[in-house]
Amino acid sequence: MAHTAYPQSYYAASANPTPQRPALLDEVETDVCVIGAGYTGLSTALFLLENGFKVAVLEAAKVGFGASGRNGGQIVNSYSRDIDVIERSVGPKQAQLLGQMAFEGARIIRERIAKYDIQCDLKDGGVFAALTDKQMSHLEAQKKLWERYGHNQLELMDARRIQEVVATDNYVGGMLDMSGGHIHPLNLALGEAAAVESLGGVIYEQSPATRIERGANPVVHTPQGRIKAKFVVVAGNAYLGNLMPELASKSMPCGTQVITTEPLSDDVAASLLPQDYCVEDCNYLLDYYRLSGDKRLIYGGGVVYGARDPANIESIIRPKMLKTFPQLRDVKIDFAWTGNFLLTLSRLPQVGRIGDNIYYSQGCSGHGVTYTHLAGKVLAEALRGQAERFDAFADLPHYPFPGGRLLRVPFTAMGAWYYSLRDKLGF
Ligand SMILES: Cc1cc2nc3c(=O)[nH]c(=O)nc-3n(C[C@H](O)[C@H](O)[C@H](O)COP(=O)(O)OP(=O)(O)OC[C@H]3O[C@@H](n4cnc5c(N)ncnc54)[C@H](O)[C@@H]3O)c2cc1C
Repeated sequence: MAHTAYPQSYYAASANPTPQRPALLDEVETDVCVIGAGYTGLSTALFLLENGFKVAVLEAAKVGFGASGRNGGQIVNSYSRDIDVIERSVGPKQAQLLGQMAFEGARIIRERIAKYDIQCDLKDGGVFAALTDKQMSHLEAQKKLWERYGHNQLELMDARRIQEVVATDNYVGGMLDMSGGHIHPLNLALGEAAAVESLGGVIYEQSPATRIERGANPVVHTPQGRIKAKFVVVAGNAYLGNLMPELASKSMPCGTQVITTEPLSDDVAASLLPQDYCVEDCNYLLDYYRLSGDKRLIYGGGVVYGARDPANIESIIRPKMLKTFPQLRDVKIDFAWTGNFLLTLSRLPQVGRIGDNIYYSQGCSGHGVTYTHLAGKVLAEALRGQAERFDAFADLPHYPFPGGRLLRVPFTAMGAWYYSLRDKLGF
């Protein structure tokens, strides 16, 4: 892996103190070797440790180096495709289980923050903003759907009401989800890593898994050491590369970019987002934004298929920010960075087991802050022999990308262009 330090993000610049963690330099034996210290890996490690397993985590770079330490920080319920899509593609029992789980990740995050006293600027309240009447009708249906699965902290907002929570006249309405909200994502990951260590888990940084010797007792190799384990959990997501070719072939890393303004005055911050909710719009290629703990505007959007790093992120994202908030035209941008999420063709996560003892979860396709926390719980349950909820995910179909590794980028970009054109034209 080429990059081993954090990108120059606002999050890295405002990270809570964290210890230097050693690289793996010898041979270690443990119950579970987790590959990747993002939310998926850390959440799995925590649930396993809480249930008496011995756990070692291998991280190629640093805790939260991947999407978990760079994302928009928005706690968004459900999956990247909603439960109605799941209901149409699987049987009623499986759909019921997956629907019930769709709101659990947000609860897990809040439980973790409370139990381990994690300082990560948690704020309640997330807004889905509709740019068109069609998107508004979709939100109305989404509210009914989510309520059917017992989720009731929702409020539909008309054009006037949404202007009370976000100071732009771009939206025809929206939906407020009070169990959504936002966090400093890197500080959440660092707090979870500290919780792992407080329970006796060991995290090795700068320790990429380079090879997995499969078999009854798998061995995970790093450049200078190896871990013998009863189970391996692969949680490298968009940064995994080709360690597991069978996982790479059915997913595609994509980049999305974020900018952060200089700190705003209290008055300006309160005029933009008076209740301090986070906002994402309902476009296929969506904009997402919120205030940081120190009152900067953090604004993200755009997708680069195949995860090439764009040259000038500010020139891509700033115009989007100014379209929403023209009043910020004289505000300076202090940070700009890119991060990779993992897209699947169905936009639903891919969960499974390879052989008897290698487990994985990947591909939450852009919305993963809540899902990855749930995934950790579901993977830990499976390792404890309770696989019903794991199977509900594992039985979702996995599809390879059309065009294979060579053509998947242009094919998917073409599809995205089509959907964003539909958004622009309001279909
Ligand atoms: C810019 C951006 C904004 C986003 N905004 C939001 C948002 O606001 N809300 C939301 O819900 N979702 C958002 N997402 C998605 C969300 O961040 C991800 O779905 C989630 O963080 C994925 O967590 P993860 O642990 O699976 O993967 P990651 O956080 O990417 O972690 C994978 C880790 O594995 C390590 N690794 C990889 N290969 C190896 C190896 N061979 N050996 C050892 N370690 C390895 C990597 O270094 C990395 O640290 C965003 C994503 C990005 C990129």
